[in-house]
Amino acid sequence: MLKTAGIHHITAFVNDAQQNVDFHAGVLGLRLVKKTINFDAPEVYHLYFGNESGSPGTIITFFPQEQARTGVIGGGQVSITVYAIPKGSMEFWVSRLDAFGIGHETTSRFGETFLKFHDPSGLQIELVEREEGTPSRWSFNGVPVEHAIKGFGGAMLSSVSSANTMIVLEKVLGLQRAGEEDGLVRFRGFGDIGQIIDVNAADASWGNPGAGTVHHIAWRAKDYEEHEQWRELLAEAGFHPTPVIDRQYFNAIYFREPGGILFEIATDPPGFARDEAEGELGTHLMLPEWYEPQRELIEQVLPKIEVREVEGN
Ligand code: ZN
Repeated sequence: MLKTAGIHHITAFVNDAQQNVDFHAGVLGLRLVKKTINFDAPEVYHLYFGNESGSPGTIITFFPQEQARTGVIGGGQVSITVYAIPKGSMEFWVSRLDAFGIGHETTSRFGETFLKFHDPSGLQIELVEREEGTPSRWSFNGVPVEHAIKGFGGAMLSSVSSANTMIVLEKVLGLQRAGEEDGLVRFRGFGDIGQIIDVNAADASWGNPGAGTVHHIAWRAKDYEEHEQWRELLAEAGFHPTPVIDRQYFNAIYFREPGGILFEIATDPPGFARDEAEGELGTHLMLPEWYEPQRELIEQVLPKIEVREVEGN
């Protein structure tokens, strides 16, 4: 049976592009690994953040639109994006959020402590200490590598039909059911990053897409051959997957699971070094070749953004 290792990337809507960079690079210390455009809407950035190379399981991506209406987090969405930090790093992050004036609270589930806060657009984020996961080698703006976010710890899913969502996680994606507690069910992929998925067992009412909400979650396929197998499996299971779409840095297939959440299967290869040297990731505006003839216009329309140091207190 096919099994996914876990999350490949998570994609969300936010408002201001510079604010997005200042928060996810400046405050959280992630690396902007790719600055490109929404291939379906070239007047909008598509910004990718991750560890030093943007490894699968570390990548959060954003479509920043200043005029975007505010979304409502709810059913049919990833409700919480969870990041893994090294053991012993929680105190560092509490102090860091305090220094930046970012409100936070501590919650616990399945014996773990989660530090919960929001990004400037309202996206719900949590940090959890985990042993697993390769340490990030990226250090920026006062986040030392020993405390740097390693990648996703996982995600919390909010479904309008939880029983059916959980069947997809277990029987289609091949995640292992790992526990149940206080109305939550935990699933686990075989990877060491982005592998722990918690699902609200009670059906949620529909959320509303918009700034501060997750658009979709992508699961890992290890190569192109396995990706084709995923597509066949999804079609056989009646999910009407899209054709394989070239997203430049991975190939993608999308399908909506019965609980309303947009799922994607994304390939680990080729990755972000395909069109920029590893040392220069995220420093150029990268366009797929079919948009190159419009580069000048696109550059005029997009707001100027920069990765810059931001100050806490
Ligand atoms: Zn995606």
